[in-house]
Amino acid sequence: MGNSTTENSSSKAHELVLSGGTIVDGTGAASFAGDIGIDNGVITAVGGKLAGDRVIDAAGAVVAPGWVDVHTHYDGQAAWDDTLDPSFSNGVTTLVMGNCGVGFAPCPPGGEQALIELMEGVEDIPGTALHEGVPWGEWTTFPEYLDFLDRRSYSMDIAAQIAHGSLRFAVMGERGIANSDASAEDIAEMQRQVAEATAAGAVGFSTSRTIFHRSINGDAVPGTYASAEELTALVQGLADGGGGVFEAIMSESIGAMEGLGGERFRQSEELELLANISTSTGQPVTFTTVQNADWPDAWREVLDFVTTHNADGAQLFPQVASRPIGLLASLGGYHPFMQRTAYLEIAHLPVADQAKAMRDPELRRRILADDDVAPADAGSMATMHTALHRTIPMQYALDQVVDYEPGADKTFAAIAAAAGVSHDEAMYDFLTDGDGSNVSMLAGAGYVKGNLDDQREMLVHPHTIAGLADAGAHVKLICDGTMPTSQLTHWCRDRSTGQIPIETLIAKQTGRNAALYGFDDRGTLEVGKRADINIIDLDNLAVHRPEIHDDLPAGGRRYLQPVKGYAATFVAGVQTRFNDTDTGERPGQLVRT
Ligand SMILES: [Zn+2]
Repeated sequence: MGNSTTENSSSKAHELVLSGGTIVDGTGAASFAGDIGIDNGVITAVGGKLAGDRVIDAAGAVVAPGWVDVHTHYDGQAAWDDTLDPSFSNGVTTLVMGNCGVGFAPCPPGGEQALIELMEGVEDIPGTALHEGVPWGEWTTFPEYLDFLDRRSYSMDIAAQIAHGSLRFAVMGERGIANSDASAEDIAEMQRQVAEATAAGAVGFSTSRTIFHRSINGDAVPGTYASAEELTALVQGLADGGGGVFEAIMSESIGAMEGLGGERFRQSEELELLANISTSTGQPVTFTTVQNADWPDAWREVLDFVTTHNADGAQLFPQVASRPIGLLASLGGYHPFMQRTAYLEIAHLPVADQAKAMRDPELRRRILADDDVAPADAGSMATMHTALHRTIPMQYALDQVVDYEPGADKTFAAIAAAAGVSHDEAMYDFLTDGDGSNVSMLAGAGYVKGNLDDQREMLVHPHTIAGLADAGAHVKLICDGTMPTSQLTHWCRDRSTGQIPIETLIAKQTGRNAALYGFDDRGTLEVGKRADINIIDLDNLAVHRPEIHDDLPAGGRRYLQPVKGYAATFVAGVQTRFNDTDTGERPGQLVRT
């Protein structure tokens, strides 16, 4: 306590003062009580008692920097939407999109269909929403895409990375989509375009090397099998353009993928590749690191490798989650019975009517006994029904306020045993109860041992960064954009053992992520930084059960998740939220680094 920097010398009132909160400043330093003074959108005083023209009482609340979410997929949504939920209602004030090798620029004339098929397959964003919502033809090159975003304003600042998939398609055409080897000329042109994008303000370059990421047609996304030479050259393009972050999801990082024929590269080879790229180009690398079911302890090898190689000059930042990656099942989203012939007869009904119809004993008997009909598109996430069926006993029934470290008593194995019914029946009756809004969760990664002890080790590891919320993607399967909120409730308040200091967690979600991406003007509550700030009622902070909304363009469906406890959010000193409601202000802009 007491390490506040006070600039309280002048008696002149600040434009805005946040008064008497517990300041967690995003540097990792101990929290302290005091005021924050803001003028012209910038923090001009921290600590002590300040006078202000407008004073907001923050007593009893946590005052923290706005969250910097470095792993989102709003590349399409940012073209039609200025709200950017679910991130907006979760205290995010800066987000980075263009992750995992998929994006919408560059886009050659007429190329949108290929890019939509990639995004629809990999990130499960409805193609119809992308067709209708994105003003195709507004840009061809990546700098033109940035200029398009720059003409818009948002609830928060946004930053974009250039993605390998769209770049390979733009430069190599169908050969790029087919994952043919890139020629020396292809590589040189892609490197040039990465450099051009970076110089124009792209904050990074991203790629996917897992065969799990497939286009809607079932093909591995462009770049999945790229050579070390190609990848190194493209990351060198970041350096050529002034520097940026290389973001990747590597082969074997989320499992063996035997059902898809097996991953092509071993984890050990992938780590060497990342270390070599980082060292030879001088650029930082962040990459998805989760506990996967095939090798539950492989993450330890990742962290040990990183510790060793970062000491030798590499800049490797494993990107980790703070809760299980949650694959959701509900009647309105995907569920284990969605491809049953008898279900398809009523699948067009509103969800509440489906639930009512499905409680009919005869329809229930037919659906439970039926065979599955294969979905039309091999790469469609609708194929999730087989995984969601196979894993019913391991799935968890979610409560109204979600506990992201549920006990074994919440599994359908336990629920079925207690009710004396089969696993299928237990799930069926849960999904069709009431208005059909019940949601179950399969812990897709990070929960192999039925608790988050390993996740905790990953989260507090000094070289990791907090990410993987995937906001804006997998809109009918995952709703982890609330991760910045649940990590506070879970790790700083609710967990009975092994709590993580709030200073550590908030620094991971703010100052550290901002520093990685070169957002030097924000991320901490220090004099001279942008006033991107959350006031949080931590005692009442809560993440509620995901809900289905049909509010994407063309009536596209997604999960959103009500969150309570953000008393206020400011972006560059402008209040964007008040008591969990949108003020309507849109001070956010494109950030270029
Ligand atoms: Zn992603």
